Amino acid sequence: MISGIAYAKVNLGLRVATRREDGFHPMDGIFQSVEIVDTLTLFASEVDEIRSSTARPLPDGIGNLAFRAAVAVRDVANSSQPIGVELDKAIPVAAGLGGGSADAAAALALAGRFFGVGTDALRELAPQLGSDVPFCLRGGTARVGGRGDELESLDPLSGFVLAIVVPPFELPTPAVFAQWDTMGEPKGLRIGSTQLPPPLRGNEDLVNDLYPAAVALAPQLDDWRLDLEHRWGRPVMLSGSGPSLYAFFLDIDEAKDATSAVPPGTRFAEPCNLSPFGWQLT
Ligand code: ATP
Repeated sequence: MISGIAYAKVNLGLRVATRREDGFHPMDGIFQSVEIVDTLTLFASEVDEIRSSTARPLPDGIGNLAFRAAVAVRDVANSSQPIGVELDKAIPVAAGLGGGSADAAAALALAGRFFGVGTDALRELAPQLGSDVPFCLRGGTARVGGRGDELESLDPLSGFVLAIVVPPFELPTPAVFAQWDTMGEPKGLRIGSTQLPPPLRGNEDLVNDLYPAAVALAPQLDDWRLDLEHRWGRPVMLSGSGPSLYAFFLDIDEAKDATSAVPPGTRFAEPCNLSPFGWQLT
């Protein structure tokens, strides 16, 4: 039996370009691992099985990204050993925090150890499982391009805390990208670099191009963002295709003070810089 932790990600900016012929939109974004985690356990079993602890049911069998990743590694190892995957989920589902991708990356890493498959093979499998999986396998802070497979690790970020709110509605990622196409590829929500915390100042502005499309599909998202900006007195940004919204605070005390009046379920997350992968064995 082997266990590990999967870290959520937040997009500190996400630029999107015209959809390619293969259906993918090239992207350019800064991705950051944050300390909101799922725990995975992989074990030898009598039959293949996936168990997960969430209020909301997750896809079963190969439909579950964690299980799909573990099976892909088993195939590479040419093994027929039945496996069980147990998933203790704390990363909100379909929230723009990359939970499924984080689970897939952690499952790749765990199954790699379990079946004796090396990191080069795991890196090859990652993009086949989803655009965010290569980043989640690496973790930390990275500039992510292409269809998620072009990674450049950046210096670790610290000196701020994110307050993250997950509004109570879903925004499926494929629908948001399709809406962005339909709307003629609008430019996104922007936070000027002078409004960012000191460690991020002097870099480029923070932009999420998917924001207009997300609001077109869920107009209440804009009300949530404006309400949070009003309460917090600072700009609020969308992570990925949403609906998670976040703002920067200098430290956990400032974040907790400012967010004492926000909806229950607000999460606080420090950036988390991991090496060499976006997972840790426990
Ligand atoms: P992203 O930001 O990468 O687009 P997300 O954070 O918005 O993803 P996820 O939580 O990864 O969304 O869920 C996206 C879809 O993947 C959901 O419809 C969910 O049912 C499915 N899914 C499959 N496996 C998992 C898993 N292990 N954890 C969460 N969702 C999963």
